[in-house]
Amino acid sequence: MNITSNTTRVKEAVFHSMFTRMFVRWGANNPLRTKLHASSLIVSASEWCEREHVLLDAYPEDAEPTEQYSSAHLNAIFVHGWSLHEKWQNLFKRYGRVVYRGFEPCLDLTHYHEQYDLRYSPDAIIEDHQGKWYPVEIKGINHDEYQAACALPLEQAVLHSETVKKARVQVILYMHLLNLQEGLILAEDKNTQQFRVWWLQYDQSLIQEYLDRLSSLADAKKSLATFGTLPERKCGEFDSPRAKRCPMRTLCFSNRRLEQ
Ligand code: SF4
Repeated sequence: MNITSNTTRVKEAVFHSMFTRMFVRWGANNPLRTKLHASSLIVSASEWCEREHVLLDAYPEDAEPTEQYSSAHLNAIFVHGWSLHEKWQNLFKRYGRVVYRGFEPCLDLTHYHEQYDLRYSPDAIIEDHQGKWYPVEIKGINHDEYQAACALPLEQAVLHSETVKKARVQVILYMHLLNLQEGLILAEDKNTQQFRVWWLQYDQSLIQEYLDRLSSLADAKKSLATFGTLPERKCGEFDSPRAKRCPMRTLCFSNRRLEQ
């Protein structure tokens, strides 16, 4: 037996475990989101659950951390992605023309839209030399996906990149909430640091699905308050993959409140 190499492996494993726990602790330190945020609204139809957001709104104290909060790997991916955002936000702050709300730069600054009861945090809001404002969505994109999309106009790029497609929806939603007509997508190749900017104009048809969700959600909240009724349960079982990602699954499957 090679004792030296075993010792080496043990030491490496100890440090690997130590570093892994940092990401677990990072996740555990994140507060649970109990208010609807734009990032939770712009999800696929299969992921969206109106019941979850009605329950979160009415019973935020019942929200529980999901597996995502304690997954070192998911947290590592998130932290890595966020570091790219911070790089651009630091550049904007030092050398760009960032819009300020009071003394706060609009760099991942959370805004609240009262009519929709919706929070949203554009990566940046900048202005041009004429003082016109633009929300900016920053995306790091895998090399192959970036190469497939970067030379194309936006209408075609979205056919080759799901990331760009999602960014388009995000920017247009921010334009809607901020009452702006133009926005920007800033996409960076994660391998080469090349980047591409797409300019886009407001087009409500691309976010109508999400505006409809908001109005349906508002009705569902009223129904709970008035009649004590909830939207249908989407998950068939408590242990289904979607339910495991839901902070309200215990309450959802208990019917405790509805029986009161
Ligand atoms: S457990 Fe499933 S059905 Fe229940 S609120 Fe959560 S996502 Fe919706």
